[in-house]
Amino acid sequence: MSKKILIANRGEIALRALRACKELELQTVAIHSSGDKELKHLRLADETVCVGPENPLESYLNIPAILSAAELSGANAIYPGYGFLAEDPDFSERCEASGFIFIGPSSNVIRKMGDKITAKDLAEDSDIPTVPGYKGEMPDNDEDIKKIAKNVGYPLMIKASAGGGGRGMRVVHDESTLISSIQLTRQEAKNAFGNDTVYFEKFIKNPRHIEVQIVADGKGSAIHLGTRDCSMQRRHQKIIEEAPALDVNEDSLTETLEACLRLCKNIDYSGVGTLEFLYENERFYFIEMNTRIQVEHPVSEMITGFDIVKAQLKIALGIPITLDQKEIIVRGHAIECRINAEDPETFVPSPGVISKMHPPGGFGVRFDSHIYSGYKVPPYYDSLLAKIITTANTRKSCIKRMLSALDEFFVEGISTNHSLHQKLLKDEIFCQNKHNINYLEESFIKK
Ligand code: ADP
Repeated sequence: MSKKILIANRGEIALRALRACKELELQTVAIHSSGDKELKHLRLADETVCVGPENPLESYLNIPAILSAAELSGANAIYPGYGFLAEDPDFSERCEASGFIFIGPSSNVIRKMGDKITAKDLAEDSDIPTVPGYKGEMPDNDEDIKKIAKNVGYPLMIKASAGGGGRGMRVVHDESTLISSIQLTRQEAKNAFGNDTVYFEKFIKNPRHIEVQIVADGKGSAIHLGTRDCSMQRRHQKIIEEAPALDVNEDSLTETLEACLRLCKNIDYSGVGTLEFLYENERFYFIEMNTRIQVEHPVSEMITGFDIVKAQLKIALGIPITLDQKEIIVRGHAIECRINAEDPETFVPSPGVISKMHPPGGFGVRFDSHIYSGYKVPPYYDSLLAKIITTANTRKSCIKRMLSALDEFFVEGISTNHSLHQKLLKDEIFCQNKHNINYLEESFIKK
């Protein structure tokens, strides 16, 4: 295979992609910003290209610069990772138009799934359970809007169809703030996304976040790698993820997994993806589909032995891959802790030089990270430093193994959320698997 892959990302996911390319004997081109010259994967890549200054708008989000780097280096395909341009349909369209393979689904599918109303419509067409609400045309008349809202029921959520990254959402508890909240959400959505379409969803009060990892080859084969539970969140951001999600109603799960695969086939999905659900009272409610690799993909890899990143590369490059659901056997349990460069209590980012660090290791411990002693964490990008993943036969042993891995791991010179993880992993509610998406911020922090 004499193909060359340009990795259009940084940090741990760039390193993860580079490792997968090496195993598949693919050549690699690593792009970077001028502030990122010391990234670990740059030393391992076949070629490196600086695409712009530290400001991500001028480097990792700079489409012309990335396409020029691909052109100059003779790359065949572009790996987007997560964040940055991974779910930008214009980027994937421009890659294809310039003759490069975009490693992900088609721009048409990314565009459809990026619009929350269209995504919900498509999900419903495949009988995927969604959050009840209203996604029709919003009337001009306030009284008519209030009637619709009353039918949905309070509390409800106003969501921008083009929203993402936790932006463009507002909870409304009663009619008194409905109209003003709609106006605010519309204004925000127009400024942030250039589209002010909004819809209503019933507000699910205390759900768990459960998601389904899918892999589809765009030729009619689709499989799932089971579920992940990502309910431990702060500011709508996941910090602990695990696989599989436990204590889930078997019938609802079976129906939901089948419906996910139906959707992949109905939309000719090609690549890997995640369908995210809220889960409450034994029911799944679809909220969105991510058409890319996710930060938490390792937990699914560890319980299935299926390399998700290699699958992405193979599917995009047309390398034969067998996708047979019968071969996917879930074994044991896996947990991932996201170590961020941030204050463990206020969550304020804490960039700076890592004076000393030591990674954890041993049986059942995986460490996905780009950091090393002396590495300077820049202030311009996501604060994710490392992902510690432990695997064991049971959730209980997995938690014990994680605690031991956390004890072994240290980072000096900057603040991290290491101590928060140590406390969370010992927390009774977490250990009993009784937490939901509000637990960390509403109960745990106040303890
Ligand atoms: P984004 O694309 O901005 O991430 P999502 O639709 O995935 O938006 O929602 C992000 C988070 O907001 C969810 O993980 C959940 O915590 C919360 N959320 C979204 N929809 C609802 C809902 N209907 N009820 C309760 N919480 C919700």
